[in-house]
Amino acid sequence: MVETSELLKQLPSIDKVLNHPLLAKTAAPHCLVVEAAQEAVDLWRQQILRHETGQLPAINLAAISSCAINFLQQKQQPSLRRIINATGTLLHTNLGRAPLSEAAIQAIDEAARGYSNLELDLTSGKRGHRYSHVDELLCRLTGAEAAAVVNNNAGAVLLALAALARGKEAVVSRGELVEIGGAFRVPDVMEAGGVILREVGTTNKTHLRDYQQALNDNTGLLLKVHTSNYRIIGFSESVTAAQMVELGREHKIPVMEDLGSGMLFDLSPFGLPKEPTVKEGVDAGIDILTFSGDKLLGGPQAGIIVGKKWAVDKIRHHPLARALRIDKLTLAALETTLRHYLDQQQAIVEIPLLRMLNMGSAELEQRTITFMQELKTQLDDGCELKMIRENSCVGGGALPTTDLPGVALSLKATNISAEKLAAKLRKGEHPVVARIQDNQLVINLRTIFPYQEKIVAHSLQQIISSDKQAPRDK
Ligand SMILES: *Cc1c(COP(=O)(O)O)cnc(C)c1O
Repeated sequence: MVETSELLKQLPSIDKVLNHPLLAKTAAPHCLVVEAAQEAVDLWRQQILRHETGQLPAINLAAISSCAINFLQQKQQPSLRRIINATGTLLHTNLGRAPLSEAAIQAIDEAARGYSNLELDLTSGKRGHRYSHVDELLCRLTGAEAAAVVNNNAGAVLLALAALARGKEAVVSRGELVEIGGAFRVPDVMEAGGVILREVGTTNKTHLRDYQQALNDNTGLLLKVHTSNYRIIGFSESVTAAQMVELGREHKIPVMEDLGSGMLFDLSPFGLPKEPTVKEGVDAGIDILTFSGDKLLGGPQAGIIVGKKWAVDKIRHHPLARALRIDKLTLAALETTLRHYLDQQQAIVEIPLLRMLNMGSAELEQRTITFMQELKTQLDDGCELKMIRENSCVGGGALPTTDLPGVALSLKATNISAEKLAAKLRKGEHPVVARIQDNQLVINLRTIFPYQEKIVAHSLQQIISSDKQAPRDK
């Protein structure tokens, strides 16, 4: 038995590892290279100190340097990376919500590469406004008098509340005091905006007279919130936008609606339930409507505000507008996304989210069968593959009760558990996020781009075949 102290003496110095050809040539930042070399040597040192030799290759410079290179590669990996979404859920806040259209991506590239006329009017040479790149488009698409855009819809709601009703009461139905993932709760946002919450009605029923009775000299706003991530069904009643507008007009109180997802055209041709479009809200006479850029719209993260000119002007000039302002890259992607909507047919082709929503069962089934057959040729008998019925959901707090009927691929490997397989897919070079159901891995192609299918198949094949050679996991 070799003494621990003897083994420790055999460890190469950090300098030796740094001078090994594998590391000496790298262009990586020196601080990261040194850290990686230290960590690699330390790995062997810890093993010696724990008397666990045999877990790692014997002490030699080449093995330790190659381990250091692996550590270095991990350190150079960006933290925010592209992943493949195999969950079938279209809008995952954790997965970055809507993927952008090719044209929107190019617009970001263009805006990022040089200077832009972000706030310059090219005709007059005078100072312009960043809203000018989207406000006409938004007015055209929604019929509104004016528009503004900010960082996200939570910001849009906060800003609109602060600008329109600070220090006053906003009347909201108890059925609409929504919490949307994370920390966005309507009552909390109202408080942050300096608005006093005046709850009316009950959870399941709110009548027009409830709003009427709540009005007083300090009422500043009638607020409607789209119950985007839940539904009250059964014995329920709420007041329509048109009724609220009428009440607001009678008492000279503005009406605002937080639409959540917001949609520019009717989704019922997709076989989806009829959601109110932004235009319908504008036509009903609502003073201010807000919605997200990266939910059903299929664009970048943004908070879109449309409505009456007097109200939008107040919002634009509020000090918070500066704090919440949209950046030029987002603006570039948003303008391009909105342009797709000028032609609905084009929007469905160009915007990935709408394409995925619109993917029929037959198309999904065909893709799944082809993918399964391809996978079968790459994986041998150690794998059970079958097509299962699976409904996707839209996610992101949109259309909570709607299922998109379809199919998915279920995979069971004999030598690796579904959990371990899912973890390895996630940690791979091209991370894949898939669901597990009844101890099987489920891959839904609806949210996988066709060019990504090969990558998923390759990752699966690599993991499953390499695990065969390894001892069976417990
Ligand atoms: C999603 C949502 C928000 C928040 O929008 P973000 O763009 O995520 O900030 C606010 N209100 C409703 C009703 C929502 O559904």
